[in-house]
Amino acid sequence: MAKALVTGGAGFIGSHLCDHLVALGHEVLILDDLSTGSAANIAHLRSSPAMRFVQGSIMDKALVDELVAEAGLVFHLAAAVGVHTIVDKPLASLHVNLYGTENVVEAAARHGVPYAIASTSEIYGKNDAELLDEDADRILGSPLKSRWSYAAAKGLDELVAMEHSRASGVPCVIFRLFNVVGSRQTGRYGMVVPRFVGQALNGEPITVHGTGRQRRCFGSVHDVVPAMAALMAEPEAHGRAVNLGGREEASIAELADRVRELTGSASDVRFVPYREAYGPGFEDMERRMPDLTLAGRLIGYAPQYRLDDIIKTVIDERAS
Ligand code: UDP
Repeated sequence: MAKALVTGGAGFIGSHLCDHLVALGHEVLILDDLSTGSAANIAHLRSSPAMRFVQGSIMDKALVDELVAEAGLVFHLAAAVGVHTIVDKPLASLHVNLYGTENVVEAAARHGVPYAIASTSEIYGKNDAELLDEDADRILGSPLKSRWSYAAAKGLDELVAMEHSRASGVPCVIFRLFNVVGSRQTGRYGMVVPRFVGQALNGEPITVHGTGRQRRCFGSVHDVVPAMAALMAEPEAHGRAVNLGGREEASIAELADRVRELTGSASDVRFVPYREAYGPGFEDMERRMPDLTLAGRLIGYAPQYRLDDIIKTVIDERAS
């Protein structure tokens, strides 16, 4: 089994991916700067001879080069993530998401190491089609609005990843992740489900932004992570971007109600204007549903976790 370098391996999705890769028999090398990830997410892997952790940044070109050269596969998940991070630190986020990714991808292509990068449903922007397939148009707001900088950077990351792959012949897969949720996810940087669960369990008001009519489709990390490994191993997936997420859609107001019910909380729901939550000029998207046909065709992807299961996982983790 190839040694896998996982950038961002101490993050929420990255740490679950490391667990899965170790279970499959891979050695895992984690590069993480612990900015939004945490050592606690990988503490249980510390004693495993299959895992090595290097604390460092994807901005460190020499370190990235050294670690990529050691690996037989690269999963690049490290990024500045969360709507709050992007809006609060737009320049630093852009740097990491653009140049950090270029460092990783360029090294992987140069060393001939197959690579996958995590992208996002954010890249579709305000396209509120019934289902977004991988060729759907991107409808982004002004580049001067920092909300769109994440989508802009990730769109460029996809281009850089694919063009390096075409030029070098080294396989590459792109994962477009739609609102992935699960244990180890923090609500500190945005991420509505852990925020609502934390608020409900603490008896604080549940803060619904805007009207709460905006809709999202939440996917379980336990559906998405095995699919990431399977796509990397599937030659038909190479050279493609593939949507991954769940099937069940809910408005944010409905989500608040489900969280209240499942936690048994008496918290009020408080409607917070976007301006108050994120500052002036913030734009949200009304709807975002993945078309999962491609992942289904390539690897038989069929998400098993319902929205209530996903919320319960987050509740159980907080309550334990
Ligand atoms: N949201 C909310 N209250 C919160 C955090 C988020 O109403 O405390 C809303 C947010 O404005 C968006 C949706 O929940 O409409 C999903 O937000 P998240 O940051 O989880 O992901 P996004 O889909 O925006 O990337």
